[in-house]
Amino acid sequence: MLGLMQDWPLLASRIIDHAAANHGAREIVTRSVEGPIHRTNYASVRENALKVAKRLDAHGVRLGDRVATLAWNTWRHLELWYGIQGLGAICHTVNPRLFPEQIAWIMNHAESRLLFTDLTFLPLVEKLKPHLPHVEQVIVLTDAAHLPENGVGAVPYESWIGAVDADFRWPTFDENTAAGLCYTSGTTGDPKGVLYSHRSNALHALLACLPDSFALSCRDTALPVVPMFHANCWGLAHAGPMVGARLVLPGAKMDGASIFELLRDEKVTRTAAVPTVWLMLLQHLDKTGDRLDGLERVVIGGSAAPRAMIQAFRDRYGIEVVHAWGMTETSPLGTLCTLKPENAHLTGEAWLDVREKQGFTPFGVEIEITDDEGRARPHDGETFGRLKVRGPAIARGYFRLGDAVDGEGWFDTGDVATIDPLGYMQITDRSKDVIKSGGEWISSIELENIAVGHPDVAEAAVIGVRHPKWDERPLLVVVAKEGRTPTRDSLLAFFEGKVAKWWLPDDVVVVSEIPHTATGKIRKATLREQFRDYSFLG
Ligand code: AMP
Repeated sequence: MLGLMQDWPLLASRIIDHAAANHGAREIVTRSVEGPIHRTNYASVRENALKVAKRLDAHGVRLGDRVATLAWNTWRHLELWYGIQGLGAICHTVNPRLFPEQIAWIMNHAESRLLFTDLTFLPLVEKLKPHLPHVEQVIVLTDAAHLPENGVGAVPYESWIGAVDADFRWPTFDENTAAGLCYTSGTTGDPKGVLYSHRSNALHALLACLPDSFALSCRDTALPVVPMFHANCWGLAHAGPMVGARLVLPGAKMDGASIFELLRDEKVTRTAAVPTVWLMLLQHLDKTGDRLDGLERVVIGGSAAPRAMIQAFRDRYGIEVVHAWGMTETSPLGTLCTLKPENAHLTGEAWLDVREKQGFTPFGVEIEITDDEGRARPHDGETFGRLKVRGPAIARGYFRLGDAVDGEGWFDTGDVATIDPLGYMQITDRSKDVIKSGGEWISSIELENIAVGHPDVAEAAVIGVRHPKWDERPLLVVVAKEGRTPTRDSLLAFFEGKVAKWWLPDDVVVVSEIPHTATGKIRKATLREQFRDYSFLG
C-alpha cells in the first residue's frame, strides 16, 4: 500500500553487517581446537564471511543449496554460519555426537554439497566419506600447518578462504528463504530436518535478547556452551551479533574446569547449556571452592533443570538461573522462567516452585494445552494436556516431509504440560510416556523424580503397562545403588503423601540396567517392549 514502511528483508547478512558497523571491535574469543585462546572481532568475522560467500559462489553453490558443518563452536564456525547464510545457501549443522550411520543418513537426506569439519572429526569423516556421494569437497577448520595427511582430499579452511578477497556483495532475496537446517535426533524413526528461515531467525534472535530471555546487550559477554549444531545455538549465534555482545566460544572442551576457566578469565555475564554441563561445573566448584564473580544469568534447557541446581546457583553463587523450554522445531526458545511482579515477593520453597517451571512465552510464541481430541484444557497449573505451540519461529513442517501443523497452525510438541493462571508452563511428561489410567493422566516424570530421592535408588523409570480394568497402570523400574537392596514396600511407602493415591505404581521391578539413548535419555520404548507381557496379577 502507498506510503507504507520499507520492504527490508530480515536477512542474516544484515545481522553481521550491523555487528561490524556498530560493534566492529567487539571480541570473539575462542578456545581453539588447536589449543590456544584465539581472539578476533565482528569486523573480521564479517570480512571472512564475505570470503566464504565469494568462495562458495565461485564453487557454484546457489540459493537453497545445503552446505554442512560438523564442528564445535569457534570463530571459524561463526564465519561459515554467516558466509553460507549470507549467500542464500542453507547452513546445515550436523551433530557429531550422533551415531556415524545417523550422520551419513542425515548428510545424504540433506544432499549437502560441501562439508566443513574440525580436526577432531577428520578420522570420522574419512570413515564416512565413501558413504557421502553428495559431498564434493571436505574443508577442515584449521590452517595448512595443522592439517594432517588425509584420505579424503580435505583442504585447510585458512587456505580455502585465503584464495579470495572480501570484495563481494551480499545478494538480496526473500526473507522467507531457508537459512539453516538442523535435524532432530528422534528416539524412534528417521531424523527429521527443521528448516529455519532468515525471517524466523531474525525474529527469534530479537526475542532471545529480551529482558525476560537472555537479557542480552552490547555490554554483555555471552558464552554459548550450547553447540551451534544443537537447535540453532538457542538463538545466540544470531542474537550476539544483533546486539553486539562479546562472544566466548568453548571449542571442543566442555568439561567443568574448562568452562569455569572461560567464565572466569573472560568475565562472562550470560551463558547457556543443558543441565549436564552445569552439573559438571557445580561439581568442579564444589571441589575447588572457586567462585563465579560477574556471571549474572545461566539459561538452562534441553531437559529439566533440577530444583537443587537452580537453588545451588542462587544460594552458593548468587547467580540467576533462567529455566527454559524449547525444541529444535521451536528455533528453539519456547518458554523461559523469570519472575513476574505477581510472584516477585516469593521466597524459599515457593520461590523454587516457580523457578522450577519452564516459564512463560516471549512475544512471538503462543502455547496451549489440549486433550487427545484437541479440546483446550484449563490453565489451572494442575490439569495437564498435550502442549501445542505456534509462532513465526515455530516449524510448520519438516524438510522434504511437508506440513506437520493442524488447521489453526498448532504444532504438537509431543510434550505434556500444565499451564498456571499466570501463564507459566511446566512439562510433566512426553505424550508417549504419560500413563493413561482410567481416562486420567499420570506423569511418569513426577513419579521418577520422587523415586530417585529414595536412598537405595540409583536410577528410576516409570512406564505404563496394560491393565484389564484401568487401561494402563504405572510400573516402577529401578536400578539399585551399589550394595543396596530396595524392597517393593519401602519404595511404595516412599510415595505416600507425595502424590495422589491412584498415582502410586502398582508394582516395582529392580533391574541391573535401564536402557539409554545416544544422548543419555532413558529409552522408554525399549523398556515398554521389555515389559509388554508384564502382568500386575503375577
Ligand atoms: P531437542 O529438539 O532435541 O532439543 O529436544 C526437545 C525436547 O527436549 C522437548 O520436546 C522436551 O521434551 C525436552 N526439553 C527441552 N527443554 C526442556 C526442559 N527445560 N524441561 C524438560 N524437558 C525439556
